[in-house]
Order: sequence, then structure tokens, then C-alpha cells
Amino acid sequence: MSSGRRTAYFYDPDVGNFHYGQGHPMKPHRLALTHSLVLNYGLYKKMEVYRPYRATSHDMCRFHAEDYIDFLQRVTPQNISGFTNCLSRFNVGDDCPVFPGLYDFCSIYTGASLEGAVKLNSGSCDVAINWAGGLHHAKKFEASGFCYVNDIVIAILELLKYHPRVLYIDIDIHHGDGVQEAFYLTDRVMTVSFHKYGNLFFPGTGDMYEVGTEKGKHYSVNVPLKDGIDDLTYDSLFKPIIQAVVEHYRPTCIVLQCGADSLGCDRLGCFNLSIKGHGECVKFVKRFNIPTLVLGGGGYTVRNVARCWTYETALLLDSDINNELPYTEYFEYFSPDFTLHPDVSVKIDNQNTRQYIDQIRQTVVENLRLLPHSPSVQMQQVPPDMLSMDLSMELSSDTRIPAGEGERDVEHPAEFYSSGTDHDHLSGVET
Ligand SMILES: [Zn+2]
Repeated sequence: MSSGRRTAYFYDPDVGNFHYGQGHPMKPHRLALTHSLVLNYGLYKKMEVYRPYRATSHDMCRFHAEDYIDFLQRVTPQNISGFTNCLSRFNVGDDCPVFPGLYDFCSIYTGASLEGAVKLNSGSCDVAINWAGGLHHAKKFEASGFCYVNDIVIAILELLKYHPRVLYIDIDIHHGDGVQEAFYLTDRVMTVSFHKYGNLFFPGTGDMYEVGTEKGKHYSVNVPLKDGIDDLTYDSLFKPIIQAVVEHYRPTCIVLQCGADSLGCDRLGCFNLSIKGHGECVKFVKRFNIPTLVLGGGGYTVRNVARCWTYETALLLDSDINNELPYTEYFEYFSPDFTLHPDVSVKIDNQNTRQYIDQIRQTVVENLRLLPHSPSVQMQQVPPDMLSMDLSMELSSDTRIPAGEGERDVEHPAEFYSSGTDHDHLSGVET
């Protein structure tokens, strides 16, 4: 049953103790609930559990502007009045408040994604999980949508040192705008985001015609959806699109953002996915057997976020876990059913008609056909006479063989670490 895949899981016991402020929907505490379920289901036995590296400002500045990171490092609720100009400039305020320990929080979730990338690069794991990461809205110069530092972009920059092509998949209900924007001009990263679009839903970007530009044209894929999408409808888009993306792009590494605000009953969301329906995306991506960094993201009904990410941890480990939740210190959160898969469906119409879904799928798949196969820094076109008889059966005349998934022309920094020690080396690596 076990695939022999090695899974690294990152959790910092401090991460659940940060508070965005009273009434704020983003609750880092959901990470403590998730971890507690993961432990009490015994899932830790099937993976390597790490207390992650903490990202330095140097690591963060691989993507972000120095003055912005400097601001995050210095601002506190006590001295905030001295930073009035900065607040609007860096979009810090209501959605993205200054709370105690803000910089440490960023450092924790970013360090874990970065360490996951380093472990994938060194081959010391095949799957790396960081539920605290996935903060996809953060921009180079500013905070956005509860996100301050874009751990995803920073992890992908690390992966690009070894991987010619990185596929980013985002199933959060919100558009993965920060990641898309960072890689909009390149073919080294393909971003694919499934999200609610329309009626000014945050962040307002991600229509079907945002496809990337210059070298990155057609390497940004957007799947705009309407309210109330259910498991079957989502599945009928996700699988064919991801299948086509993987076939055309041949990623050597995948980053999967598993925002759980696409579940039914989410405090901010308006989709209608069940936990199993959400998990089906994780299962499908796992089947490709490509090194994968699995991240969290949004998710505002805390009890269901914890259920969802626990279930997805089990899926990644090929573990069947009981629907009855184990006893944990947070047991009362899961009342009244105390199960892993309660009914989270809401009674709203699925506004995504068959016709609408068919049209999106068709447009997206047609755009993928415009791509050259497996572009990259070291792509080579193999002359047709190199095709052996048995290979040629599966290759059409215009198919190019990807260049040996090669690392040859990709930068190999001297410094990387393999066993969770000597983390300082990370900060000496430039992208
Ligand atoms: Zn979201």
C-alpha cells in the first residue's frame, strides 16, 4: 500500500498562538487544532515531523522589497503611531493588522515553506507539508488579504534552483494573485488558480483571459467560478485541467496551495465543497508522483479547516483514518458530531451551469495546446530519428521529449542543508 514516498511535515508549536485581533477571521489557532488531530490520529508515525527553520529578513527579501520587510520587522502595536505613512503605503491596517509578534509569525510560516523546498531539492523527502504557509496574496511591496510575506513565492524561488519547471496549483476560494503576479513573465513557473470570480469578490483578479505575458504568455491559468460550486462540478474541471497541464508542461515539482475557504460553510467563502471533495484534488495531484510542496492558505471556519488539513495529511500518507475524531484537547470544537466528515454543505444554488463549466474547460485546455511542450532553460528538441520504435507509438510527430528532467543548467548552489541542522546556510544563498 505504501508508495515509499517520504513525507516531511513542518510545525512550530508557537504558530497557533498569534492573534490577528478581535473579530478578525484569520485565526492561526486553526493550525494548533490541525496539528493536534494529526498527532492524535497517529499520523506522525508515518512522516518526519520537523520544527521548522525561521526565515530571516534576508530570505524574505529574495522576493520582497527591503523597506517593506524592514517595516514588518520594526512595527509593533505599541509604536504603530510612528509609522502612519507606512501603513497605507504597505497596505497594513484593517485586513492586515499589526499584531504582537507579526514578524515572528511571518518568519515561522515562511521558514517552513522554504525548508520544505530545500528538503525537496535535496531529495530528502518527496512530499513536504506546511499547513501554516500558503499566504498567496502578499505582494512584493505590500501586504494583502491577511498575507504579509509570500512564503509561496519564496519557496518557489528556492525550487527553481534545482527544478526547470514548477507547477503551482491553488484551490483556495480566492485568486492566487500574489504568486501569479510574481511569475507572470516567466515560463519557469506555471500558475493555475481555481477561484470565485465576480461581484467584486476579493481580490478581483483572475479572469480567464489573464494568461501571462511575454515569455510567460499562457503560463498563467485561471479558472473563474461562481457561487455554490459542488464536488462533482469542481471535479469535472479540476481533473481534466490539471491532467492537461501536467501533460503539456511536465513540471518537475508541484506546489499545491490547499486553502480551505473553498469548503461549504466557510465563514468568508461561498463554495460548497465537502472535505472529501477538497481532498480529491490533493489525491489527484499526489497520483502524479512528482515532488510536491503542500501548503495551507485561507480557511475561516476553524473546525473544518482542521478537519480538512488533517484528512489531507492522511491522504498524502496513504492512511485511512477513522471518521470518528480522536480525543484531543480541542475536542469541544468538533461538537456536536465529533466526526472528520460532517455535512458542510450549504443550501445555496450552484450557479455554475453545465454550459459555463464546459466553456471554461474548453478555453483553458485550448490555451494549453498553444504551449510548446515542456519549455525550459535547458529544453532540447530531440531529432525525430532519435525516437525509438516503442517510444514513437506514444509520441505524435510534433511532440518533443523533455530534456531529461535535467538539472544540468540549473544553478546548484553550494550551500544547502540536508537534515534540519545548520540552517544559517540558507541565508547565504542568492537566487
Ligand atoms: Zn482565501
